[in-house]
Amino acid sequence: MLKKILLIIFTITILSCEAQNTETVIITTTSPLALILKEIAGTQIKVDYIVPASASPHTYSSKPSDVNKISKATAFFYIGKDVDSWASKYNSKNPIAMLMMIEPQFLVDRTTNNYLEINDSLKKDAKINWNIIDGHFWTDPILIQALVPKLVDTLSKIDPKNAQTYSENGKAFINKLTTLDRQISVMVKNIKNKPIYLHHPSFLYLINRYGLTFGGSIQRNPGQELTPKQLSELIATIKADSVKAIFNEPQLSSEEVNAIASATGISVYVLDPLGADAKNYYDFIMNNVKKIIEALD
Ligand SMILES: [Zn+2]
Repeated sequence: MLKKILLIIFTITILSCEAQNTETVIITTTSPLALILKEIAGTQIKVDYIVPASASPHTYSSKPSDVNKISKATAFFYIGKDVDSWASKYNSKNPIAMLMMIEPQFLVDRTTNNYLEINDSLKKDAKINWNIIDGHFWTDPILIQALVPKLVDTLSKIDPKNAQTYSENGKAFINKLTTLDRQISVMVKNIKNKPIYLHHPSFLYLINRYGLTFGGSIQRNPGQELTPKQLSELIATIKADSVKAIFNEPQLSSEEVNAIASATGISVYVLDPLGADAKNYYDFIMNNVKKIIEALD
């Protein structure tokens, strides 16, 4: 009898341990979303992304293994529009569009390259035309800071037993972002009026946050190449602007950037909007800011 009771207790203990060890897994479309969520998730949640460091999320075509990963994951975080609009077609237990969590005053309008105009009708109906919103929100540390409490809440709902940890990690991340913001504000003082020419408009959130100057971009959308006329116009603008450098991106073809560089004699630097090699969000943003300063100062 005692043996039987012990066996039952043993079995119950094993089963409850197994239940507790069921891993919480978050899948994101791109690496920056994973870097942001890892700051709050810490070691409690496994966070992984699907678009490789060398691929553009705009033109990414998913593999059968992605479908499997997403359907098994506890939650699937994606941008929602513009950059990874393909993500919404997946079957996920818990799909979360991060762009839709952002307050309108932080959003950048793709048609003006500036902050979204908050007019009376937007205030009244809070109806945002998502088709004009730039999706590269992750390059603005202050926007991310404002988003942290919502992300803490979301992770706490996904995994309530570790809510306290997520809250503490969120506070630590907010402090790191304050430091990052202060450092960038000082670092960019001398380059505010120097136009930044991008391969595609991937850093407009960073540019707008720190009052930098956007010169233009080679591609409005990745994959959409310039016509020869547009290319020669861009070369003329770059010459007229006395631009020192142009930025390439690891995910895009360097053909047009090199053509512009050889026609104008300017240098080519690389900015990485996905930062898959960065060890955390701070390093990801800082590496890119340092690169912009190195190129333009
Ligand atoms: Zn992009």
